[in-house]
Amino acid sequence: MDHFTYLDGVMHAENVPLPRIAAEVGTPVYVYSRATLERHAQVFREALADVPDKLIAFAVKSNPNLAVLKVLGAQGMGADVVSVGEMRRALAAGIAPGKIVFSGVGKTAAEMVAALEAGIGQFNIESEEEGIELAALAAERGMTAQCALRINPDVDAGTHDKISTGKADNKFGVPISEAGQIFGKLAGLPGVNLRGVAVHIGSQLADLAPLEAAFAKLGALVTALRGAGHTISHVDLGGGLGVPYRVGEVLPAPAEYGAMVTRVTKDWGVTLIFEPGRVIAGNAGVLLTRVVRVKRGINDPFVIVDAAMNDLARPALYGAYHHFEAVEPKGARMTANIVGPICETGDTFAMGRECDALVAGDLAVFRTAGAYGATMASSYNSRGFVAEVLVDGDRFAVVADRIEAGAIMDAERVPEWLA
Ligand SMILES: *Cc1c(COP(=O)(O)O)cnc(C)c1O
Repeated sequence: MDHFTYLDGVMHAENVPLPRIAAEVGTPVYVYSRATLERHAQVFREALADVPDKLIAFAVKSNPNLAVLKVLGAQGMGADVVSVGEMRRALAAGIAPGKIVFSGVGKTAAEMVAALEAGIGQFNIESEEEGIELAALAAERGMTAQCALRINPDVDAGTHDKISTGKADNKFGVPISEAGQIFGKLAGLPGVNLRGVAVHIGSQLADLAPLEAAFAKLGALVTALRGAGHTISHVDLGGGLGVPYRVGEVLPAPAEYGAMVTRVTKDWGVTLIFEPGRVIAGNAGVLLTRVVRVKRGINDPFVIVDAAMNDLARPALYGAYHHFEAVEPKGARMTANIVGPICETGDTFAMGRECDALVAGDLAVFRTAGAYGATMASSYNSRGFVAEVLVDGDRFAVVADRIEAGAIMDAERVPEWLA
């Protein structure tokens, strides 16, 4: 459920009509709903009510906006970060260091030191090599890094290849077949307290079965590790729960996920960590855009909007579907190709899409843009960075300024020898 609904024929975010935001902030602009973010956080928490010890760490990469992190931090969420930049955002939003989990295959020495000094809650180590390096960095400083070993369980998450992370030849984690041996090596090193294991098999999962298969493998590994004399107090189950992008699409509800997790993990006796991203933020945001013009096509007309693949990359990256609708639909429908202004055919949001009839100047939204939207923006074609707005009831605030192309150019230099 979200709070983007039509009131008197005009789409609102909570109680704010979207044309008001377009008039005051311009387009394209991401619009997030605080009530929706809070509701999703609550639904996820309630789904896990029967898990006694847990940390729900929002996957910052899905929406790193400071105001969004502030809203979710106030809901008790921690943060799953994959860079020091994300860690600094979580800290700046007031999330306690102890609730921060640091994942990622390429943590640099400087990043590991910064995270040690910040006192983060857990490092998810993705390789033996990384574990050895982290142990040395911590030991040199007389510190102990709290760690889990990320396992690649070799399950096919059944999602898009580019967001699948748990197959044997994906770059993430250590192979489950070698996990016992690597765990044994790392657990003996000074500087680390290797206290658990972690998995994350992919994103936008439409089925609970691969998750359950991965968790079952992890459970067996926990038993084996304990059998080998290790103390396992933490297991990180990652994120990945999918969300509906299409009208009428049905995905596993957080409650079904929670019931499965509760059943599979009931005898583990650990603190469980969860890293949801998309399921919290996805449907809490839309990308608001204005139609530049409608161009005749050989088949369908091209609806050219002022948002582009640099603002919302998912369709170009993954062929992803985003529902597209008018802010003030008049009842008529059209079949159109929906495209941005960028000089690349990849800048196509949809081909042959049935949608509300639109003319130049109309406002429209791409739905389900709250996760992996603004965070993936670039300045390709010197378009600058898109602005972000957070709505709260009948008020709203700009929570990320539009960065104009000129400001990006100002950071560039022509060397003297070219002048
Ligand atoms: C991306 C990612 C997540 C979040 O995935 P969602 O599908 O958005 O829930 C969680 N954990 C890790 C390690 C990730 O890389």
